[in-house]
This record gives sequence, C-alpha cells and structure tokens, in this order.
Amino acid sequence: MSHHKVIIIGSGPAGLTAGLYAARANLKPLLLEGLQPGGQLMTTTEVENFPGFPEGIQGPDLMEKMREQVKRFGADARFEVVTGVDFVNKPFKVVAEDKTYTAASVIISTGATAKYIGLESELALLGHGVSACATCDGFFFRDRDIAVVGGGDTAMEEANFLTRFAKSVTIIHRKNTFRASKIMQERVLKNPKIKVIWDTVVEKVMGTKETGVTGLQLKNLTTGEVTEFPTQGLFVAIGHKPNTEIFKDQVELDAAGYIKVVPGTVDTNIPGVFACGDVQDHRYRQAITAAGTGCMAAMDAEKYLEALDAKQEPCIPV
Ligand code: FAD
Ligand code: NAP
Repeated sequence: MSHHKVIIIGSGPAGLTAGLYAARANLKPLLLEGLQPGGQLMTTTEVENFPGFPEGIQGPDLMEKMREQVKRFGADARFEVVTGVDFVNKPFKVVAEDKTYTAASVIISTGATAKYIGLESELALLGHGVSACATCDGFFFRDRDIAVVGGGDTAMEEANFLTRFAKSVTIIHRKNTFRASKIMQERVLKNPKIKVIWDTVVEKVMGTKETGVTGLQLKNLTTGEVTEFPTQGLFVAIGHKPNTEIFKDQVELDAAGYIKVVPGTVDTNIPGVFACGDVQDHRYRQAITAAGTGCMAAMDAEKYLEALDAKQEPCIPV
C-alpha cells in the first residue's frame, strides 16, 4: 500500500490536465490511466476545436502530447484500472485490482463510454459488422454500404469519416431533426455520399458471424411501417454513459449516473474528492471543457491539501 497526496483516476483530457496542474504544484500525483489511456479522443480523427492547433490535430496525437507534457513534470502514470474506492473513511482508499492505494484527495476523471441500442442481434454482431468506432473499424468497410445510427455530433462525425471508405452511408435517426451542432449537420447534409432516414429506429440487425451484417429491420415511428434495409455495416453513435459504476455508493450521482458537483465547481459531496470532465458533465462534453475542469480539480485539491496542513492534519500519515 502506498500513500499519495492526490490520486487521479482516468487519463482523458480531464485527468491529464489535472495531472499536469497537480504535478506542477509538486503534489506528485498518481495517475491511474484505466483501459483507455488518452480517453475518448483516442477513437477519433481530426480535432478541429481544441485551441492552439489552427490546422486541427488528430485525436491520438493531441492526447500523446498531453501525456508527454504531464510526464515532463513528474506525474506517476500507471496503466491500472480502478476496481473500487472507499471515500467513507480517511485516508481515502483506491483499489486497482490487487493493489490498494491511500490518498488525502482523489480526482475522478473516468469520462464516459459508448452506448449501444441494446438489441440482442446488435450485440451478437459486435465486431462482425457492428461497431461504435468508425476510426477503429471504418477501414474494414471499404466500398461497402453502411448505416450509422444517431443524430448528435458523434453520428455526424462518424458518418462523414466513413465516406472516406464506404460506397454509401445512411444515417438512421429516430427524430426528424438532428441535435448535432449546425456546422457538423451542414457537412453531413452536403455530403453526396450520405443519405438520411428520419423518424426511424433499428429493430433488428440481420446477418451471422460468418456473413457479417447483411441488413437491418427498420421501423418508421410515424407510419409504423417495418422495412428491410440492406447494409453491410452498422455504426452505433448514440452517445455515452458515464463511467461511475465503482463510485455508486461512494459519491452522489444524478439520475443518469453522472457525478453531482456543486454548480460552478468540481466539488462532489465528499470534501477532498473532486470530479472533472465528462463523468460530471452531460451538457458540454468537450475536450476543452474536460481539460478546463481538470485544471479546476487540481487547483481545488491543492487548496484542500493546504487547508489540511493548516489544520495540522498532515496529508501523509506518519
Ligand atoms: P474520457 O476522454 O472519456 O477519458 C476517461 C478516462 O478514464 C480514460 O482514460 C479511461 O481509461 C479512464 N477510466 C475509466 N474507468 C476507469 C477506471 N475504472 N480506472 C481507471 N481509469 C478509468 N470533443 C471535442 O472537444 N472535440 C472533438 O472533436 C471531439 N470529438 C469526439 C469524437 C468522438 C468519436 C467522441 C466519442 C468524442 C469526441 N469529443 C470531442 C468529446 C471528447 O472526447 C470528450 O469530451 C473528452 O474526451 C472527455 O474527456 P474526459 O477526460 O472527461 O474523459
Ligand atoms: P449525444 O449528443 O447525446 O447524441 C446522441 C444521439 O443518439 C441523439 O441524436 C439521440 O437521439 C440518439 N440516440 C440516443 N439513444 C438512442 C437509441 N437508443 N436509439 C436511437 N438513437 C438514439 O451524443 P454524441 O453525439 O455522442 O455527443 C456527445 C458529446 O460529444 C456532445 O457534447 C458533442 O458535442 C461532443 N462531440 C463533439 C464533436 C465535435 O465537436 N467535433 C464530435 C463528437 C462529439 P435524440 O436526438 O432523439 O435524443
């Protein structure tokens, strides 16, 4: 068991920014990276809206740069997955498989993961024509007809990206308007390779592991009509779920499972435990807002530790 002033859980833009600020404040943070070092941007291509990169930057390149910067200031980053925490007793405990760490403060930045429609046939064909990551799997769909489900920025981005490989891309959306930002919608609607089927849901994914996806059973929600739509791939881009399973009984969560913070801060209901990035944000969910709240979390952890010192509650047990 080793004790730390700050443990940061997660290594997306929020965790890495928290790591940078905490390391520069000489707090020697332990950064437990989880299964996806770099976070969600590792699954995307061009990031055009992160300030400082006028020509845009590839998601994985941006995250590698953030990682290098954090390491330069001495953060201890480890490829470990946190499986449990104890925020009831002090010092806090963070369990990463067979190791238990203690900490005076903890920053949670575990982000969010892709959602699936929840069809048995969809899950059965995951990796066999069904995917939630165009960057990872788009290459396998060269000259194919493929479908994308969703109406947010991710669906727009995935659809546009897939046109680099696919013969055609059809977006299937359950409403008759997209919720994606205007600029992303325009790109999709202007792209001659992309068609949209509105007011429609996927009821079944057809095919086998041997054939891959061969088609979709669709239902028009306005007319009730059920049709078969031939396609060789399905990309599910319907949003994300906050990664908060391990924090369920330890910090307060909202109805959707996001960590509740005091508005305008990164304070959870447990003093000394802070939450930043997508794990506490269902409104903005951007790399820059994740990084911004990561900065806030590290600065607040520093103030919290200073206050402990002032009260002569040393953050390192003797
Ligand atoms: P995440 O990036 O989700 O990182 C979470 C981290 O927590 C990961 O490192 C993971 O390994 C770790 N973790 C999870 N569970 C555990 C555990 N139990 N133990 C230890 N570690 C754990 N935003 C933009 O601003 N511009 C874009 O162009 C853009 N494009 C996007 C494209 C796609 C396809 C997607 C999905 C999102 C995109 N976003 C974009 C949104 C952006 O990626 C997120 O807002 C941002 O990554 C959130 O950062 P985060 O650090 O909060 O969490
Ligand atoms: P999102 O904004 O939550 O959109 C999810 C979409 O999927 C919605 O259109 C939703 O439909 C649909 N949907 C949800 N559940 C469904 C189901 N079971 N069946 C069918 N459709 C379903 O999620 P997102 O697109 O992943 O974006 C998340 C965040 O990341 C956003 O803040 C976004 O701005 C950001 N992001 C930014 C960029 C960029 O700026 N370049 C790129 C990607 C993501 P309804 O509309 O009917 O609810």
